[in-house]
Amino acid sequence: GATSIPLKKHQIDRRLLSNAAIKTIEGLQKAGFEAYIVGGAVRDLLLQREPKDFDVATDATPEEVNRVFRRSRIIGRRFRLVHVLFGDETIEVSTFRGHHEAKGDAHTNESGRIIRDNVFGSLEEDATRRDFTANALYYDPTSEIVLDFHQGFADIQAGILRMIGKPETRYAEDPVRMLRVVRLSAKLGLKIDPATMAPIAKMADLLQDVPPSRLFDEMLKLFLSGHAIESVSALREQHLHHGLLPMLDVVLEQPMGERFVMLALKNTDERILSGKSANPSFLFATLLWHEVLAAWEVYKKDGNPPIPALHMAMTEVLASQAEKLAIHNRYTATMKEIWGLQPRFEQRSGKRPFGLLIHPRYRAGYDFLLLRCESGELPAELGTWWTTFAEADNETRQAMLEADT
Ligand code: ATP
Ligand code: MG
Repeated sequence: GATSIPLKKHQIDRRLLSNAAIKTIEGLQKAGFEAYIVGGAVRDLLLQREPKDFDVATDATPEEVNRVFRRSRIIGRRFRLVHVLFGDETIEVSTFRGHHEAKGDAHTNESGRIIRDNVFGSLEEDATRRDFTANALYYDPTSEIVLDFHQGFADIQAGILRMIGKPETRYAEDPVRMLRVVRLSAKLGLKIDPATMAPIAKMADLLQDVPPSRLFDEMLKLFLSGHAIESVSALREQHLHHGLLPMLDVVLEQPMGERFVMLALKNTDERILSGKSANPSFLFATLLWHEVLAAWEVYKKDGNPPIPALHMAMTEVLASQAEKLAIHNRYTATMKEIWGLQPRFEQRSGKRPFGLLIHPRYRAGYDFLLLRCESGELPAELGTWWTTFAEADNETRQAMLEADT
């Protein structure tokens, strides 16, 4: 059963809730359903953080939710959810999910991984299939009561991230939970409970079976969490990085590659923590750059001219990467542009530098160049030259080009 935590104890400030979340819950409750704010939002509120989005859980089926809200649509095939729209806000509403095994159906594969998870269940069952105790709290903004089935409130108070149930079983069901534990503990500053931590090292290999597109989504969240440096260090400690970004482990083991990747992650963290956005393409371009460099060398040694050799290297690295981590096409196109621009920064004569300045990806290419300089791969002078060139008037630019040729 659940513990009811009253306002006096949890002290969630109702004003921090999104209006859309409140309206969604009120709409469902008026129609006779149960509805709660759940998951990351409740956890963040209890940790005095501003939730980045609000998820709602209900006993209404997707069709019923859809009928309550005019502006809503059912999405997803594997788990069907409803998106309810209010102005520019979207609230994700999911129906309580039950235990796959409870219905006597074989929904797991031979290693225990859940392949289908679309059985509706009770509120209590919904709580039990969530990952961490801190993520399994249900807040009703009408009564202002938090329902707690797994001592999540106490764990949050104690700063602990703890898996619900037997950690081995839960990781086997869904190996991505190993990445989530690392990411959430870094992001929220929570300590990982020892029993939750213990099985990770020996179960890390299970990540190999996770569909590449899911891995990509989770890695993207990790890299854009504002705590990428800590997360990557923790992944390395737990040996979770092996084969995750194929060859990222190799890159991290080369001093120059490690420096470059860490600089890129540090820049990204700083951007995110100061409220700016970070471009995933740029980030993935940095993560794989030293792979591209190594392959580029090989193709040049084979006698290919530099530019075609670079393009062969890019194609090769992206193809080998795709087997493990499906980087979406919309990102790979930009990654190739950023990489493809790099040789052009080394041509400092004639009209070429002017052409580069007006290239639509100049800024990203230039930022990438600066990282290469800062990591020691290229002389700092090259980056400084471009900084000066971009800011100079035309006369100075002409002089710079003549000085260099
Ligand atoms: P974030 O703040 O990064 O969004 P989150 O905990 O909200 O963190 P989501 O991916 O948005 O993460 O998931 C919402 C909720 O769904 C979680 O709080 C958790 O209750 C549940 N959940 C998500 N992924 C899993 C999983 N792999 N296994 C079990 N429960 C999960
Ligand atoms: Mg969330």
